[in-house]
Amino acid sequence: MSQDKTVFMDGLLRISLLGGEARAFLAESTHMVERARSIHALSRTATAALGRTLTLTAIMGSMLKGKDESVTVRIDGDGPAGTILCVGKPDGAVKGFIAHPGAEVPRRGSKLDVGALVGRGTLSVIKDMRLREPYVGQVELVSGEIGEDFAMYFTSSEQTPSLVSVGVLVADSVASAGGLVIQLMPGASEAAIQSIENSAGMFMDISRTMGEDHLEGALEQLLTHLEPQVLDRIPIRYECDCTRERVERALMLLGSGELRDMIEKEHGATVDCHFCNTRRSFTQAELEELIVKCGTTEKPSADADPQ
Ligand SMILES: [Zn+2]
Repeated sequence: MSQDKTVFMDGLLRISLLGGEARAFLAESTHMVERARSIHALSRTATAALGRTLTLTAIMGSMLKGKDESVTVRIDGDGPAGTILCVGKPDGAVKGFIAHPGAEVPRRGSKLDVGALVGRGTLSVIKDMRLREPYVGQVELVSGEIGEDFAMYFTSSEQTPSLVSVGVLVADSVASAGGLVIQLMPGASEAAIQSIENSAGMFMDISRTMGEDHLEGALEQLLTHLEPQVLDRIPIRYECDCTRERVERALMLLGSGELRDMIEKEHGATVDCHFCNTRRSFTQAELEELIVKCGTTEKPSADADPQ
């Protein structure tokens, strides 16, 4: 598959609430989730599971400070979906995959049963902050419904009480998707906490609100009574940054022994990117070239991988 450069922009607002006592992140992610659905041929419930995770990963990406930083969210549940993994960057680019994209479970009433698809397990967050040690946080999944699981992560792992609403409306394709995270700032007053808690019910149908009103309309409809002040607007999108050069570097990291093995057994190699499904093939001659490059850059012990 060739890389489709057509980008439909969704948006994310970073908002200060109640004179700085709380902050909000409001995202419209319809195109982003639809792109993920079509790349991975996701079932309906898998669209909701991966779409919710991608939306919240985009929000977490916008919380990062440095432009080279990234956040990886990994959900390891024991349900039919298998592992869900998403990566977000501060500029609004996100990518992700789900181990079993076609897995499906029966509806629960009128709702897609994301919790049953994901199952029990853990939610892990790894923040790569370049020069500093990576931050790693992990919580047990509350329900596998994603929104509640992230709320637990923010509240217990980052010690930031947070209200999370995220949703994906999907039929044959994605009709609408969006997310909202509201976080209390340290020292928030009892009055601020009350007014946010009192409006929690309004936030619950976020995908429908996004579908009807879009980003600016949703801001007005959901947050006006909390005195919102928009700090900035970030374009969010599904985007994979893989290149042939990166795949070559990854192959070289395997070491010349492994590459020789590929030549002998497969007479070449094909490498698929899990995030965008781009397939790259390497001929025997190209692998031999990589072995030569390995020889010039490899430390003597790099071949002796004990595993
Ligand atoms: Zn890719």
